[in-house]
Amino acid sequence: MTAPLDLLDLDSSLTEEERQIRDVVRQLLDDRVRPHVAEWYEDGRVPARELAREFGKLGLLGMHLTGYGCAGASAVAYGLACQELEAADSGVRSLVSVQGSLAMFAIWRYGSAEQKQHWLPSMATGEAIGCFGLTEPDHGSDPASMTTRARRDGDDWVLTGGKMWITNAPIADVAVIWARTDEGVRGFLVPMDTPGVTAREIRRKMSLRASVTGEIVLDDVRLPADAQLPEAIGLKAPLSCLTEARYGIVWGAIGAARDCLETTLAYATTRTQFGRPLAGFQLTQAKLADMAVELVKGQLLALHLGRLADAHQLRPEQVSVGKLNNVREALAIARQCRTILGANGVSGEYPVLRHANNLESVLTYEGTSEIHQLIVGQRLTGLSAFA
Ligand SMILES: Cc1cc2nc3c(=O)[nH]c(=O)nc-3n(C[C@H](O)[C@H](O)[C@H](O)COP(=O)(O)OP(=O)(O)OC[C@H]3O[C@@H](n4cnc5c(N)ncnc54)[C@H](O)[C@@H]3O)c2cc1C
Repeated sequence: MTAPLDLLDLDSSLTEEERQIRDVVRQLLDDRVRPHVAEWYEDGRVPARELAREFGKLGLLGMHLTGYGCAGASAVAYGLACQELEAADSGVRSLVSVQGSLAMFAIWRYGSAEQKQHWLPSMATGEAIGCFGLTEPDHGSDPASMTTRARRDGDDWVLTGGKMWITNAPIADVAVIWARTDEGVRGFLVPMDTPGVTAREIRRKMSLRASVTGEIVLDDVRLPADAQLPEAIGLKAPLSCLTEARYGIVWGAIGAARDCLETTLAYATTRTQFGRPLAGFQLTQAKLADMAVELVKGQLLALHLGRLADAHQLRPEQVSVGKLNNVREALAIARQCRTILGANGVSGEYPVLRHANNLESVLTYEGTSEIHQLIVGQRLTGLSAFA
């Protein structure tokens, strides 16, 4: 975090290596993303393949995984990278999260040796793009009700159904598809050029516009027996992938909030009304102070969860605490910053409303706020209130 916003001097809690990784990622984003991202957002188009290769060169794809060309970085280092990525744009961070924490993690954790060898090295370099299909048109928060089916036909599997709101789907080489079988939920690696697979881009999003989102239709898709992820048994497999991705969001959302606040601080100290800078009014300072306090609290929370993850002690409901708090507060910060920018707050010349709009998606995906409240509520009460 830059000096005035680092109220608690959290920078000093990072190791030299962690700071270096953060700074290298920030530089890449300054060079390759920041100058263009407003235009990508406005056009609803992003050069995702090109970006993936750049991120791959830097070791950002699957960076917290080991082997197969992955960087084997710590959870904190990965979190810091997510923070920088989302300070540029939540859609750009989503590209990296879905590739590394959802698609690659699923293969790395649940795949066979052959599946890992086949996919992970090219996904780590960004040559191959992956996506993760859990949500369906009629089943979002409740994936246990999924209707996509995989049935045996001799040694083969035949998949039928559809997945909705799938990040990267229209540009992906492979999809991790979760489907119901006679033995329960299982995961499958589906090359996107398999006959019967179609991916349609979802256009007209008002949020996460610098990210490619699509629908996948599976029409009697025949796959060999070895397309199944052998270690993925039941719904807990995709849920464990979500925990990985949610952890990145805990950090990422705070990056978006930081960018809003940095922008707003700069604006409020230079914009003059009634003969003094906006930042000189008590009402503005109250807003800035409250936001800065929430920002550092969110950062402390992310860092604490990161240290727990590196000690292999992080539990899913702790990640829910982080996702619930940090996305909710980041969105509140983005909206409050927008007020300080006045009319300029709605302009694409400033990143603030873009971040706020993006955070609306971040609030919904990877478990909505309500779902995380229910996870935390269950931990507190011992009672499941999901259904
Ligand atoms: C831009 C974008 C990208 C995405 N990328 C992916 C992806 O790559 N892969 C993927 O699989 N999915 C992806 N998603 C889908 C996302 O995970 C789902 O949208 C999310 O899980 C919510 O599901 P839903 O939209 O069907 O909402 P619903 O489940 O229909 O929920 C609607 C509302 O009802 C509330 N609700 C639901 N159940 C309860 C309950 N028991 N108690 C109280 N309130 C409840 C929810 O909190 C929400 O407020 C993406 C979504 C977006 C917007």
